[in-house]
Amino acid sequence: MLIVKSKTYTYDILQRDIASLVQEYPFLRSFSIGKTVGGRELFVLVWGRGDKKIFLNGAHHGMEWITSLLLMKMLETCCHHYANRTSRGETDFYTLFSEVTLAVCPMVNPDGVELAIRGLPETLSPITKTRLKAYNGDSTDFSKWQANLNGVDLNHNYDAAFYKGVFMQHKLGIFSPGPTRYSGAEPESEPESRAVADFTRSFHPDIAVAYHTQGEVIYYNFESKATEQGKAMANDLSKISGYQLDETEGMASYSGYKDWVIDAYNIPAFTIEAGLGENPLPLSQIDKIYQDNLPMLLYLLRA
Ligand SMILES: [Zn+2]
Repeated sequence: MLIVKSKTYTYDILQRDIASLVQEYPFLRSFSIGKTVGGRELFVLVWGRGDKKIFLNGAHHGMEWITSLLLMKMLETCCHHYANRTSRGETDFYTLFSEVTLAVCPMVNPDGVELAIRGLPETLSPITKTRLKAYNGDSTDFSKWQANLNGVDLNHNYDAAFYKGVFMQHKLGIFSPGPTRYSGAEPESEPESRAVADFTRSFHPDIAVAYHTQGEVIYYNFESKATEQGKAMANDLSKISGYQLDETEGMASYSGYKDWVIDAYNIPAFTIEAGLGENPLPLSQIDKIYQDNLPMLLYLLRA
């Protein structure tokens, strides 16, 4: 069982948990899809060997690291049931393993997670530290940091109405790198979003979900392009979890991961804003978040 004794979920703990899951469950595959600006690996874990493909990712945003633990816990549940040939309610994991391929990128932005949890590391060069501090409004408090090490908000860096998003940012006075909402110079300018987009292009998911915090909300649309299937699934997910359905407004409507997937692939794609409270959500919320979100994943596996 994954047990977190610290108060946060760091990149080190993620690496340790991936190693222990893969060791305990040899049918689980793990590999890197690229490296971050800071040189950290972007891990993907794959469960199952079926034709139906589902891609889940977490922690596009630094201070939303609890979503990485959520994804690891849900993956562990799939592994545990498959290994023991046990079902959970109407979910028969043993059969699903040959029907579904579930790919999980638990931490899209490990550099941002580390910055939000630990602040500026001593190991960074003085010039990088100065640069990041400038991005952070001259503050050394990085606890609300969302972006990558270039000060780009990765969930505004995808190719979906990108320049409309830039226009909205300018209206809000965002012109340069910062802790949140700066979209970068062009779509996929960042190694993290490029790696996730490249993986999506090669994996060809039938369903994709990006996990964020917080609000207990499910976003399912992009410029009214959600398919009927996507809308129906969103309704079911809302009923299952009690999370509200919503459509993004303003600059949150552009250049996000689910926006790009809906736009480019015409498949059901969702942003799930897990948990309720003020970011960063405390680790004490993980049990409730897991209880609320696991049934949604089981539904998607069976759908
Ligand atoms: Zn987020």
